[in-house]
Amino acid sequence: MNIRGKLTAGMCVLLGALCVGVLATVHLLLLPQVEELERQSLQLDLERSHQTLMQEQKRLLSIAADWAQWDETYQFVQDRNQDYVASNLIDDFLIPLQADFLVILDQNGDAIANLHSDKLGAPELTAIAQGAEGITAPLAHMGQAGEPSTALLQTGAGFFMVAGQPVTDSYRVEPATGMLYFGRLVDPPFIDSLAEQLRLPLSASLVSGEASGSRIRFLSSHQAIADLPLTIANAPDQVLLLSLSSERPFYRKGVEGALYTEAVIILIGLVAALAAYVFFKLTLVSPIIELQRVAESLGQGESPDDLAFVSRRDELGKLARTFHRMVENIEENQRVLRGERNQFLNVSLTDPLTGLRNRRYLERHLGNPDSWLMGQSYLFMIIDIDFFKQVNDVHGHDVGDVVIRQFAETLSECCRSNDVVVRFGGEEFAILCLDCDTQAGELLAERIVQSVSQRRYGPPSAGLAISCSIGFYVVAADRVREPVNEWPEMLKVADLALYTVKRNGRDNWIGLDWCGTAGWARHPQSAVDIQAGLARDTLRLVTGGFGEELPRWDGQAAPGR
Ligand code: GH3
Ligand code: MG
Ligand code: MG
Repeated sequence: MNIRGKLTAGMCVLLGALCVGVLATVHLLLLPQVEELERQSLQLDLERSHQTLMQEQKRLLSIAADWAQWDETYQFVQDRNQDYVASNLIDDFLIPLQADFLVILDQNGDAIANLHSDKLGAPELTAIAQGAEGITAPLAHMGQAGEPSTALLQTGAGFFMVAGQPVTDSYRVEPATGMLYFGRLVDPPFIDSLAEQLRLPLSASLVSGEASGSRIRFLSSHQAIADLPLTIANAPDQVLLLSLSSERPFYRKGVEGALYTEAVIILIGLVAALAAYVFFKLTLVSPIIELQRVAESLGQGESPDDLAFVSRRDELGKLARTFHRMVENIEENQRVLRGERNQFLNVSLTDPLTGLRNRRYLERHLGNPDSWLMGQSYLFMIIDIDFFKQVNDVHGHDVGDVVIRQFAETLSECCRSNDVVVRFGGEEFAILCLDCDTQAGELLAERIVQSVSQRRYGPPSAGLAISCSIGFYVVAADRVREPVNEWPEMLKVADLALYTVKRNGRDNWIGLDWCGTAGWARHPQSAVDIQAGLARDTLRLVTGGFGEELPRWDGQAAPGR
């Protein structure tokens, strides 16, 4: 992945992390807290509702106590005088007490007084209420007989909140003679009035199950329900479920707010990421890419352009300036190295004694295909000073060196500027002329022999007369298949010719010319090959003074090569 891709990926990861962070904060921290607040609020409302119900029960219990501990009631239970009923249990007396029935039981549990509000006025309800299975029978499920008690009761006429008190004299010194009960109908209007009083959306319903603690359920992000099951004394497998249905404005607002916040933060994050991308691209990525491009052009040997951000004052500017200094140093070093390399190369290709090119140069030159492009025919010539060992022996090595240097000068003077003159080794030289024919070779060889014979060598006091022997080989360019590989063979033909001159008296030259009619030359590599070539006229001999029958091709190449 390139640096631009990495930057883009980094920005995406950053944006993703931001989104995840915002979502996690909202959904794991903010909304659960809102939910917990709603739960607490619902729990409080439920408890308030329950408290209000309990207060209603206490009120009933207190009314029941007033009536049960009244001497007239006590007397009535004992003698059942109808005056009590006629004067106290009159119509509508339940209305101001906000009660729906009054029942007085004697010690046997028989109802001796039974009064109902208009709500139970319907004939069937009244019948049920007055009947043994109506209200009276369920009263047996109230608390312990003779003790004050409250309970919720399911009766044939409906649900009642009931409070019972033992009937005693007003001083409560006599034992109880019966029980007096007040009941209030728990019907929808009662629940509605409760809801109105509490300003809460309260409802009640009968459901199967056992009474347990309150329960709060969040049905959706819009609605929650808090339930409080109330025990029904005479129906253990059923409960009166007090329910508080509530909307969830905070949670809903919280979710909406969270969505809005997320959208805004993501939008801001996107814009920030885009701005950061552009900023990093301009200030970091582009300079790095430019630096890379310039470094690549330097690597390819080109002279790199100036970096555009070189004038910046930050680290990249410093890097660019350092890079420029480095490039300048490298270029300077390269210049020096190139100069030294050329110098070393020149030294390694030059013979120190004569200043001529050496054998290494020859190999390098002939190994290069470009050297062979111009020539129509190639001339390989080898020149060796005759009896040079005697010069050393008689006049000393130093004089020998002078002779070799002067001999090299003679050869250079005899050659054209584009001929290659090489000190092949010791007192042996080679001349390469890659565009010379046989006639040019003959002239050159003769010119060398003549020049050497006319000149005196060594220090002026010595004035030595020397001679040399020359062998050469000429072959047309179109007869040579691979000159870069074949040149040692061609040079060897010249060497064989030189050796023959040595064998036949020295101070002379012999040239061999490949004159086969067609096809590639198979260069002779021995005296036998030369004799065979001469016999078949694929080789032509030219000499500086030997007869037609000379020389004798019985030798081999000069020792040392
Ligand atoms: P021939 O005619 O058969 O070539 O006989 P020659 O004596 O020239 O050949 P030979 O190979 O016997 O001897 C060559 C001598 O050249 C031997 C060696 O000491 C001498 N020589 C080689 N290189 C140098 C050099 O650089 N300086 C000097 N002074 N002598 C050298
Ligand atoms: Mg020699
Ligand atoms: Mg020699």
